[in-house]
Amino acid sequence: MKALVKQGHGLGMEGVVLADLPKPVPKENEVLIKVMACGICGTDLHIIADEYAHTPPIVLGHEFTGVIEACGGAVKGLETGDQVIVNNINGCGSCHYCRQGDYQMCLEKASIGINLNGGMAEYVTAPGDHVFKVPDAMKGSDIPALSEPVACCVRAVIDHTDIKPGDTVLVTGPGAIGQICAQLAKLCGAYVIVSGTKVDEARLELAKRLGADATASDAARLAEMVRQRTEYGVDVVLECSGAAPALNQAFELVRKEGQVTQVGVFGKPVMVDLDKMWKKEIRYRSGFATGASSWEKLQKIYAMNALNLEALISTRMPLENYKEAFAMVERKEGYKVFLVP
Ligand SMILES: [Zn+2]
Ligand SMILES: [Zn+2]
Repeated sequence: MKALVKQGHGLGMEGVVLADLPKPVPKENEVLIKVMACGICGTDLHIIADEYAHTPPIVLGHEFTGVIEACGGAVKGLETGDQVIVNNINGCGSCHYCRQGDYQMCLEKASIGINLNGGMAEYVTAPGDHVFKVPDAMKGSDIPALSEPVACCVRAVIDHTDIKPGDTVLVTGPGAIGQICAQLAKLCGAYVIVSGTKVDEARLELAKRLGADATASDAARLAEMVRQRTEYGVDVVLECSGAAPALNQAFELVRKEGQVTQVGVFGKPVMVDLDKMWKKEIRYRSGFATGASSWEKLQKIYAMNALNLEALISTRMPLENYKEAFAMVERKEGYKVFLVP
């Protein structure tokens, strides 16, 4: 089968090749999935640049959907022909974190597309207890390949942030993650402001189309907007930009006793005024990857058919065109690029 393999360390994009691998055989507890589409994630770029721990040689790709072609004998509740999504993080199964479904915190975790062969291939295997059927309304569509990023947003926004109807929520950063978080905050009943910079005009336009109540592309305008809208500042900031100035502005614009949740990745230490956090008694949390509860809630939200995800898929490209596809992601063009094997 065709598969996109990262061969080793220190080679960058040169070390990523389209290889011909044997079709994987599912173990007793696994299913074999014929991949429909696999999204390219920022993490994949970090893996290729050796900036994110991984175990080459490895087939890349942790954001995928596909149809089950074979089930191991011990797999329950799934059958051939089911379209599925996959919680890509496997844990040891017996530690404190695994027992509560937080496999992403397990000290011995191994993730599909990072430590185990992933979805940028014609076929991938996954343990049956990490595999979920897509709801009927989404069957046949490749949009569920966005499920892993959506589940990350569910972790941060629904599991770890307390949003009440009528709250004002500021989402900083209108990329794919920010667009999903803004939609989730709307589902919680909030008034949602999405902010970005001058280069984000088109993204902010999309945020509005997808339900955001207001947008701002410069800091002064945003501060003014928050002053007009709220008495004390915003109730919640969802930091999705991974940019230090946005985080500092979050501490500025959030009200006393408000919440700041980090969804974006800064990639390096950043300077923030923690005394501001102390004085305002800001509740700071983060969402890292996904836990079992994120996937459970994701399925319930999917069943409501309340998210517009199609607008976030900018391009679908054949797996063979991976170089062009990765270059697009590198240039931060559009939102999500899907590779189709
Ligand atoms: Zn990802
Ligand atoms: Zn564990």
